[in-house]
This record gives sequence, C-alpha cells and structure tokens, in this order.
Amino acid sequence: MSEALLEKTKMGPVACPIDFFDVYGVRDDFPILRSRVRGKPLVYLDNAATTQKPLQVVEATRAYYEKQNANIHRGVHYLSELATNKYEAARETIAGFLNAESAREIVFTSGTTESINLVAYSFGRANIKAGDEVLISAMEHHSNIVPWQMLCEQTGAKLRVIPIDDNGDIIFEEFETLLSEKTKMVAIVHVSNSLGTINPIKKIVERAHAFDIPVLVDGAQAVSHLKVDVQELGCDFYAISSHKLFGPTGIGALYGRESLLDAMPPYQGGGDMIKSVSFERTTYSELPSKFEAGTPNMAGAIGMATAIDYFTGIGYDKLESHEDAVLRYAHEALADIPDLKFIGMAKAKTGVVSFVLSDIHPHDIGTILDQNGIAVRTGHHCTQPVMERFKIPATTRASFALYNTVDEVDRLAEGLHGVLNLFK
Ligand code: PLP
Repeated sequence: MSEALLEKTKMGPVACPIDFFDVYGVRDDFPILRSRVRGKPLVYLDNAATTQKPLQVVEATRAYYEKQNANIHRGVHYLSELATNKYEAARETIAGFLNAESAREIVFTSGTTESINLVAYSFGRANIKAGDEVLISAMEHHSNIVPWQMLCEQTGAKLRVIPIDDNGDIIFEEFETLLSEKTKMVAIVHVSNSLGTINPIKKIVERAHAFDIPVLVDGAQAVSHLKVDVQELGCDFYAISSHKLFGPTGIGALYGRESLLDAMPPYQGGGDMIKSVSFERTTYSELPSKFEAGTPNMAGAIGMATAIDYFTGIGYDKLESHEDAVLRYAHEALADIPDLKFIGMAKAKTGVVSFVLSDIHPHDIGTILDQNGIAVRTGHHCTQPVMERFKIPATTRASFALYNTVDEVDRLAEGLHGVLNLFK
C-alpha cells in the first residue's frame, strides 16, 4: 500500500500476507458461495447482516431433525435424553467459546436482540429507577437503544449517550465525564455494524467498575472477527447471535455473570423455567433454565455450536490476519474511486467498509451492484443516530467474513466505477 494511500485511508501497513490462509478451501465449505446471481458469480459482502452457513452446520441441523429430535429436559426416553445432551453440550461449547466461568452463565435466546431485552427487562426493572441513568454510545444498533429507552420511559430513568468523533471512535473523556453515581448500566457495542469501530471494552469496563456499574456488551458483530474472552474483558453481560457467526437464525446467547443472573428475576414465565407450580405459588429453576421458558430452539443451539467448532477450528490467528488484510485491501481499492468518502475510520476497525459515493443514493448503488451479482447493504443499518451524526441519510456497506477474497474486493471496486460511469 502506498504511503499516500495509507495516509488517505488512515490504515497501517498490511499485517500479514494474504495467502497465509487457504480461503478457497474455506469457500468450498459454503455451497451458496458457488451461486451465480444475475448471470455473474455471487460476491457476498453483506456479512454484517447475516453470514452464510458451512455444510457442517447444514448437516448438523439436518442430522438433528433426521435422527435426534425430541423435546428436551422432560423425557425419560432415549431420544429426549439424546436431544437434551446435545443441547446442553452446545451450551458448554458456547461457554468455552466466550470463556465463561461456567455453562450456567450461558442463557440461550433468539439472538442479540432478545439477550439485550432480557437484561433490560429483568436486571433493568429490578435495579433501575427514576433518576438513575443508563449509558449507551452514539454508535449503537437500534437493539441496544430501544430496550433501554423503553426501560427509561417506564421507570423515569434517563438515557445518556457517549458521543463519537468524526472517525467513528467514542470520545473516551466524554465517557468518563458521563459516568457518575447515577449510572446504573453501561451498554455498549463491541464492534459497530455500520462503522466497523472496535470499542476498547476492557478499558470501558475498568472505568465503569470503578463506580460499581455493570457493563453489557453487544457482541453481535465482534465474535466472528475477534477472539472474545468475557473474563479477560471483565464485562457483566455479553450478547451474541448465531446467524452472524455462520450458524442458524433464531438462536443466540446471553453470557451473564453468575452472581448477577442469580439475583435477577425471570424474564418470561412458562414451562421448563420452574421448580414447582401451584395456584398459590411458583418457584423457579436454577440457572440457566430460569431464563429459558418454553421449548427452546434445540436444532438452532446444536447448529450454533457446530458453527463455533467450525469457525474456531480454523484458528483466530489465521482468520484475523486474513480479514485484516482483506479489509485493508478494500480501503486501498476504494480510496482510488473518485468522490468516495469513507464513513468510519476508527483507530481499530474490523469487518466493515461503509461509504458514500458522490451524491448517488446508496439504494441506487446497491441496486446497480446487484445487477453485477454483488450483494452489499444500503441504508441506515439499524443505526439511524449514526447517520444523523454524520449528516447523511444512508451509507453503502460492504461487510466481510472469513471467506471473502481480494478478488471480490476488485469486483466491488469495478462495480463502483461502473456506477460512477452510469451517473456521469
Ligand atoms: N447489534 C449489532 C451491532 C448488530 O449488528 C445487530 C444485527 O445487525 C444486532 C445487534 C441485532 O442482532 P439480531 O438481529 O441477530 O438480534
């Protein structure tokens, strides 16, 4: 990368050679990547919305329904025990993946959104009252804004927002100024889905804990790019979605520190979350089933664990180097396009390149790229306050996963030159 481009893209030098990692071998595991779209080979750059699934996940899900399906926890028969064991083994896998102290700290949910809602409802309603404050950042996804807003409306607490600078980094001094005795929760995204910013979670947790404030981290975009260790980060809650992690949709998890989860009231009532029920009184199960009312998504949990095994089996060192190299290559290639402005050039970034191109509406860009078989996302990416901050209605976002290649970046750049030519 030339010095001038490095300056323009504000990225450092490429950390490792791109051929370090057998990306084509990995792509073979993802049948959908062999598709042709509108007559052209598919270039899938919408991974922040959802990732594609390897054959291993598809096969594990299929095997569950073909050979293992039964309702869990309540059966004495063979299939019920088998399905229960697989479901609980999936929980162990997720606990290991996040380095939770125990599997009791892992609650299955439908995804990041439900995980955050669970904490806002259960922890929030038990611990946050009028006059208290909840602190979020200006780069949150709507699912880490709205549940807290709803909590504040119902309790009379106040939502405070850590501002971000022109690069898309949080302004750390402002964060420190906003922390006070009134703050009862800090809820912050690990990796921004619209800017790619990696937030300094460990530092944020240290500052918040100095005031005894719990920290919830929205990890939806982080876990497919970074090695996450909840004990090392020190956070109290960590929310993830399987579908952003090469697993099935409709399943995810909440990590919660055991002492906090233990003290929290149940979030939903129903079967499986009880010890005993009478019309006079119900007592609740231990962790984690206290938070898992009703029949869960067994196939999803098994698929999610398979995806995690697949993904971690590749090795984070390889993944991170490859993804970093592709992201840097993308910044270099796109910086060459006239009138393209990056939105989000944070000090530490992963997974995402967001940009505006001349005065062409991102929806037009997305539609024209789609004609070339290139899938990107356009719009506000469920981060409307980010768009407001940068005074733009929308961006075009290319988001990368472990299977993307520099050739695909070239196709994107070529497609964008084509868009510019059309609008000349
Ligand atoms: N948080 C972030 C940063 C996201 O990118 C997303 C999804 O795009 C979510 C939360 C919500 O995830 P889900 O829709 O899987 O619940």
